[in-house]
Amino acid sequence: MERQPIHVLAIPFPAQGHVAPLMKLSHKIVDHGINVTFVNTEFIHAKLTASMAVKSEEKSPIRLVSIPDGLEPGDDRNDTPKLIESIEKVMPGHLKDLIEKINQSNDDDQISCIIADSMVGWALEVAEKMGIKRAAVWPAGPANLAFALHIPKLIEEGIINIKGTPRENNLIWLSEDIPAWSSSGLPWSCPGDSKTQNIIFEFHAFKMNHYVTLCNWLLCNSFYELDSPVCDLIPGIIPVGPLLLGNELGNYAGSFWPQDSTCLSWLDKQPVGSVIYVAFGSLATFSQQQLDEVALGLELIVKPFLWVVRSDMTNGALAEFLLVFRTRLNDRGIIVEWAPQEKVLDHPSIACFLSHCGWNSTLEGISMGVPFICWPFFTDQFHNKSYICDTWKIGLGLTPDENGLITRHEIKTKIETLLSNDGIKTNALKLKEMAKKSLIDGGSSFKNFKSFIEQIKH
Ligand code: UDP
Repeated sequence: MERQPIHVLAIPFPAQGHVAPLMKLSHKIVDHGINVTFVNTEFIHAKLTASMAVKSEEKSPIRLVSIPDGLEPGDDRNDTPKLIESIEKVMPGHLKDLIEKINQSNDDDQISCIIADSMVGWALEVAEKMGIKRAAVWPAGPANLAFALHIPKLIEEGIINIKGTPRENNLIWLSEDIPAWSSSGLPWSCPGDSKTQNIIFEFHAFKMNHYVTLCNWLLCNSFYELDSPVCDLIPGIIPVGPLLLGNELGNYAGSFWPQDSTCLSWLDKQPVGSVIYVAFGSLATFSQQQLDEVALGLELIVKPFLWVVRSDMTNGALAEFLLVFRTRLNDRGIIVEWAPQEKVLDHPSIACFLSHCGWNSTLEGISMGVPFICWPFFTDQFHNKSYICDTWKIGLGLTPDENGLITRHEIKTKIETLLSNDGIKTNALKLKEMAKKSLIDGGSSFKNFKSFIEQIKH
């Protein structure tokens, strides 16, 4: 008798740093002969398909579908509290309807497992009620998950209060092998945005502690050797990363913006190990003054650079700024709106990565052996910076001046210091090797992933 095909449904939180890694995981799953239906919000689905090469959606090996997020077309989806409130209200119902529809359409093709980003952990509740097996995917570094799971204890011990505010300005340690968290760099820290901070704290403190009890598997995008002390603190954690694209999947990267590949041919013309890659992920924003300072800093360094400047990166006069800056450059640097980041980091011309230290960017830089200049903005990025600078010793941090500005001189000095430090480069290359080893046959992530696939197949 022929076995029924296995059909997995994957659902990310609607943000770039969540959709892309889950899509990469989905591609790995499809490679094992499993069907994957990938559920985005309608808004994100439209962005993804618009940024793909023409009609490539039809060739995508995973099936892309969408459900409403409950917001109006013109609503601000960067307003995280509003987005979370809306999706939690409407999406569980839509998800249930979708699963029922899929299951009713073909008796031989039933959804047998749901893989949900932890930030949409309510999907695990839907799955549980429908009797479907479920995996949660933690999209940030495992240290932040360990911290989240320790919050009830930290509250009980009076180290933080019920709203996530530390009682004192002391460092918070989970163990001496893990970098401490400063009171201004907690996983929910959002400087200047207390509403988002509160909602992210609630997620870490209460929801996540509930979701881990609902899932059959708890996957994360990391590899055991990168942070074994932290992995050992999290019961049942399954590191399966780094989740990377590989060359053939360029079109299906899960990018919200079209990737500008012209920068790759520009990189081809630059000397090996010469280019500074500057990119701050999908969410970080800058004042016009800070943007000017970055531009001036890059101009001061006598090195080529590739800078990703998203159209929504500043409220300032971006078009005018770019026009003026580009005329000063004389081909020494280029600016793109969105780069094929993995390919860029893997290019031999890249010397270092000026980054906001988002978890995906951190892992991608590690996987390609690129040293970092760290400029964290919010949430886990502060602690990722501690790992990069203090634990793995693969980068240097930028220090703001007394007005909170990262000056052009700070940028220039730190990049020059980094590039003259062979120890940091050597450490970065060692981590790259470790990452690679974890993914090949016999490596830790390889084995974890294989075992996960075997379990969902049975
Ligand atoms: N990224 C990209 N092109 C760019 C900048 C970023 O493809 O020009 C990708 C990057 O490879 C990463 C993701 O966007 O996978 C950003 O995720 P991260 O966790 O680093 O930051 P976030 O956007 O969540 O702040």
